[in-house]
Amino acid sequence: MPNPCSLGVDVGGTKIYAAVVDANNNIAGKAKTRVELSGNPQAIASQVKVAADEALRVCGMRLEDINDIGIALPSSIDPVTGDCVHAPNLGLKNFSVKEHFKKLFGRDDIFLGNDGNCGILGEYYFGAARGFKSAAGYFVGTGLGGGIIINGKLLTGNGGIAGELGHATIKYNGAKCGCGKRGCIEAYASKTGFVRALKKEILGKSLDSELAGLIDRKTMNIPSKQLAKAYEKGDRAVRLILDKGMMKLGAAAASLSAVIAPDCIVFGGGVMESMGEALMPAVLMGFRENLFGISPEKIELRLSELMDFAVACGATVLARKKGIV
Ligand SMILES: [Zn+2]
Repeated sequence: MPNPCSLGVDVGGTKIYAAVVDANNNIAGKAKTRVELSGNPQAIASQVKVAADEALRVCGMRLEDINDIGIALPSSIDPVTGDCVHAPNLGLKNFSVKEHFKKLFGRDDIFLGNDGNCGILGEYYFGAARGFKSAAGYFVGTGLGGGIIINGKLLTGNGGIAGELGHATIKYNGAKCGCGKRGCIEAYASKTGFVRALKKEILGKSLDSELAGLIDRKTMNIPSKQLAKAYEKGDRAVRLILDKGMMKLGAAAASLSAVIAPDCIVFGGGVMESMGEALMPAVLMGFRENLFGISPEKIELRLSELMDFAVACGATVLARKKGIV
């Protein structure tokens, strides 16, 4: 074994990513598995274990070789208990998953983190936000994760809900969000948001789209690669919805800048991995139009470097620092 390794796992809405990372932030092994959502914390924990075992197998290591374990979930994390609070995209509220992890992994030192928080930790320590003092991240996937680091310290705030950037309101009484409230930026700039809007355009207004065959009233999600392909081909409905969503995301990032004025804002997640280069001009437009008091060149807007594995890598940072980030 080269040097002490940490294991990080990211539980997403459709996939689980696991990474084994050494003390120099090199990825020794990684794995990606599909997730079956059941609304059952024990089932989620078992699926995490499968992904973790696969990442360990890839680099020829055993669980005993791992120093620390960090697991990121699409949930706010209670700063006192270190357990989950509310995870609408997993269909869970007021649940405990930590005990299941402890039992399955056979150890107590498991650190849980919010997925967006882990995403910005990954980018800050070994990705696109390296070298900046303060940074924020938006992670566009099934939902819209977020995280904020101010002067090197992760902002967790009251009840651990700071950095839930996806649930900042962009439009009063706007589109319904998965969290139950209306007008959150996640309702416009996430795959669940895109699907909702595409249904309206394709099923409601019969707008021509190559995704028409893929979308019916029951559709909840759509693979990022399909969206990217349709966008690239110039699909009218897809371009309309995604460009609008990304301009709103840029406006949300400008709004955030009026509150915390970060040095760098990172855009990652599955959607950005598949089509980030194509979407960034719309993000930049929304950002520039809504920025207050600072020239847009002074805030670096960057695509994620770690992409799919940003959150899993960030979970290893959380673990290595024993949850004190
Ligand atoms: Zn919301």
